[in-house]
Amino acid sequence: MVRYKDVKKAFGDTVVLNDLNLDVQQGEKVALIGPSGSGKTTIIRMLMTLEEPTEGTIEVDGEMLWHKEVNGELVPADEKHLRKVRGKIGMVFQQYNLFPHMSIMRNCMEAPVHVLGISKDEAKKRAKEMLDKVGLGDKVDNYPSQLSGGQQQRVAIARSLVMQPKVMLFDEVTAALDPELVGEVLEVLKNIAAEGDTTMMIITHEMEFARDVADRVLFLDNGKIAEAGPPGDVLENPQSERLQSFLGRFN
Ligand code: ATP
Repeated sequence: MVRYKDVKKAFGDTVVLNDLNLDVQQGEKVALIGPSGSGKTTIIRMLMTLEEPTEGTIEVDGEMLWHKEVNGELVPADEKHLRKVRGKIGMVFQQYNLFPHMSIMRNCMEAPVHVLGISKDEAKKRAKEMLDKVGLGDKVDNYPSQLSGGQQQRVAIARSLVMQPKVMLFDEVTAALDPELVGEVLEVLKNIAAEGDTTMMIITHEMEFARDVADRVLFLDNGKIAEAGPPGDVLENPQSERLQSFLGRFN
């Protein structure tokens, strides 16, 4: 579903990712862990078309993201192509950035109506279904300021799901929440993951959550995937000193 091939990313002279090769299968849940600055966010920002790789290619659902093949040659993709492939991807950040002047329901209907061009009735139906899924079906007429941070983040998750993305990206979605609100958001993510069909890439510092939700855990260190495997291996039986010391911080 997602394929990074020989991807390098540099900002000026600073190389932040090197030789990244990663295949994520349809429906797979991949957790990305690692120290601050190791390149986790850059990996998913390139997929969300927010950063362009310096070298290499990225494919989503069988299509190149940043390139197009013309007469057997790779050429840079144009904005129209980027927009099309971007439509297959949903992302939820630390900051939920809901529209404050719109009800929860309208927050979830905006993009399907204006970006996908589906009817308001259909958008409303989808939005209700997703708000039910995140446990907020009874809050549709509320405004963001009337909800807790955890509830607002659950709305942000519902708003992404309404677009029916093939791949969902989550970047430390609980990092800005008060500790007592973290659990409810992780619970929602676990439920979505348990449904099985959405491919998920999740950056998290919640190791217990990573163990529960991920099929595969990737440990990023200095711009490289330093260890990878099932959570039982990577989290319970770390091979390198770097990973042992990183995990030690969470005990
Ligand atoms: P964190 O856990 O702190 O979010 P991360 O593993 O997600 O860290 P990235 O955000 O991917 O790390 O950053 C990797 C490196 O790239 C860092 O050293 C960061 O300073 C650098 N970097 C990221 N974006 C830019 C940018 N736009 N310009 C210059 N350097 C950048």
